[in-house]
Amino acid sequence: MTIDLRSDTVTQPTPAMREAMFSAPLGDDVFGDDPTVNTLEAKVAQLFGMEAALFCASGTLTNQLAIRTHTRPGDEVICDQLSHIYLYEGGGIMANSGVSVALLPGERGKLTPALIRDAINNPADPHRPLSRLVSLENTMNKGGGCYYTLPEIAAIRQLCAEQNLPLHLDGARLFNALIETGESTESHGQLFDSISICLSKGLGCPVGSLLLGKRDFIAQARRYRKLMGGGWRQAGFLAAAGIFALDHHVNRLKLDHARARKIGAMLATRPEVDEIYPIDTNIVIFRLPDTILAVDYVAQLAEKGIRAVTFGKHLVRFVTHLDFTDEHLNEMEKRLTL
Ligand SMILES: *Cc1c(COP(=O)(O)O)cnc(C)c1O
Repeated sequence: MTIDLRSDTVTQPTPAMREAMFSAPLGDDVFGDDPTVNTLEAKVAQLFGMEAALFCASGTLTNQLAIRTHTRPGDEVICDQLSHIYLYEGGGIMANSGVSVALLPGERGKLTPALIRDAINNPADPHRPLSRLVSLENTMNKGGGCYYTLPEIAAIRQLCAEQNLPLHLDGARLFNALIETGESTESHGQLFDSISICLSKGLGCPVGSLLLGKRDFIAQARRYRKLMGGGWRQAGFLAAAGIFALDHHVNRLKLDHARARKIGAMLATRPEVDEIYPIDTNIVIFRLPDTILAVDYVAQLAEKGIRAVTFGKHLVRFVTHLDFTDEHLNEMEKRLTL
């Protein structure tokens, strides 16, 4: 038995999800007539109280389309220095949109109105790029899965409204945050101009993300998706997995969070673990002493049949997910002490 905690993307579709995929009615989504894609897009837009949605192959694509649609070349995006859009999307902000980035030092990747206010350039000063978009991430991957609460986001929304700046959310793991706080999808939908959510993380789909926003915005993003080669045809196979996941895999995320905390308790007993980030959702990040490199430690774990990723020179990350059960958890406890 391999214990694969590299990411919550490693899950396999369940038998019931595969059934839903096999029996999905299909069309050609570039012509706009794949009924299952249309159902998924309408379902998610409605869930968040937003006008429209666009189903895409990845969260990178939905984030990049959002940036492309909100900005023009030479503009600037304001985000935290730990943001996925900056660190893990291949330089796409620059390459796809020709846009500059103001990288802010938030607390575990979370921004505040004060930090954002200081980063907004004076539009009358031609030396500076035009600040055009603020992007938040919830939950915050590189911050160890921490999340924003609604009042924190509302304060940022207020500032953005005053400054006429659209607000984007990289909500790859937004459902993990909502399950912890009990906050509603609509309440978050109200606060953003665009939201990206992933179906292929904790929700257990093989592929898929959605971009949400106003009708005109999504129509423009659809143009850019085609331009970038992201138009697809009988995508209803994949959309069916998404519909299934939204109906069956959201509430169970709390199990992933509980198991992540149990991993934290195991790690706390390990002499080689110096520090464990607070465990708020399904991500566990821990620090090794300066004498142990994360790459070496991850290689040792792999020999014990436990897969993880390095998250810095001395940082290691585990992510719990649908295919990580209590059986895996018990086995992990034995293997960690080997
Ligand atoms: C995984 C992830 C994405 C999107 O990744 P894809 O692999 O392109 O779907 C975006 N943002 C965050 C925070 C993520 O963790």
